[in-house]
Amino acid sequence: MKRAVYPGSFDPITYGHIDIIKRAAEIFDCVEVSVLNNIGKTPLFSIDERVSIIKEVTKDIPNVTVGSFDGLLVDYCMKNNARTIIRGLRMITDFEYELPLAQTNRKLCENVDTVFLATSLEYAYLSSSTVKEAASFGGDISKFVPPFIADMIYKKYGTGSEERINEQ
Ligand code: ADP
Repeated sequence: MKRAVYPGSFDPITYGHIDIIKRAAEIFDCVEVSVLNNIGKTPLFSIDERVSIIKEVTKDIPNVTVGSFDGLLVDYCMKNNARTIIRGLRMITDFEYELPLAQTNRKLCENVDTVFLATSLEYAYLSSSTVKEAASFGGDISKFVPPFIADMIYKKYGTGSEERINEQ
């Protein structure tokens, strides 16, 4: 049984993340999407909100589970019987950040390897932070996240079109 962990902030999850999850689920027997409890960042969505959002978007993929963690990622992987960490790569700057992280994790625990999936071209520009920035000014984020997540983001910021606000 090949288990993998796909860790991240997912604040919020975007179509780019969802694409990586679907592709990873085709490669591994089981993929645990795990929300990182990063005390250094002030998130838009709480851990519980992010976990339930991800559960909703992955509910039709039977071999995907959702959890959260803090502490060392490699410890979390070992506890979950996962020998692989999945990370998505959008551009060279992602690689520069991810390579030493992967190498550090391997020094910390040689049983856990990192596998990188190159982003699909249509999502190469997409990041949670730009989605939040656009939404905070009422921009149309329908190409970036599923509709129910867009609504939740607009609600947090009190933005969106008149129509959207009136609907709520
Ligand atoms: P972080 O873990 O750095 O806070 P995120 O939660 O945004 O970042 O992303 C988690 C993982 O998903 C990372 O490996 C990141 O590179 C990847 N990722 C983020 N956005 C995309 C995208 N548009 N396409 C593919 N992978 C992505």
